[in-house]
Amino acid sequence: MKNKNPQQILDVIYHEILHKLIKLNNIKLEEKIEEVIIDQMCPKGYLSKLLGLSEKIHEEHLLARQEWLREEYEKLTGKIKEYFEKQIYNEKTIFNFLNLKSI
Ligand SMILES: [Zn+2]
Repeated sequence: MKNKNPQQILDVIYHEILHKLIKLNNIKLEEKIEEVIIDQMCPKGYLSKLLGLSEKIHEEHLLARQEWLREEYEKLTGKIKEYFEKQIYNEKTIFNFLNLKSI
């Protein structure tokens, strides 16, 4: 990873850690939904900002441009934004908030 500072590298690592944590907790989500949720958390997402790894949230995520994830992005983006901006994480998990059932 050329021209990356330690925060940016850690931010990318957190993305992968979140995938592992979901797996370790036996939360089985549809692959696309899991990707969209985690992508909006980090890197350069809502979690990145909360952790001090990124100064601002990138509104346009790279993955959002991928055709295979477009439908999930359109469906979940507004709700994920609401979850973090209204600090709903103090009350419930993102899975409960998004009404997602483990498959
Ligand atoms: Zn991922």
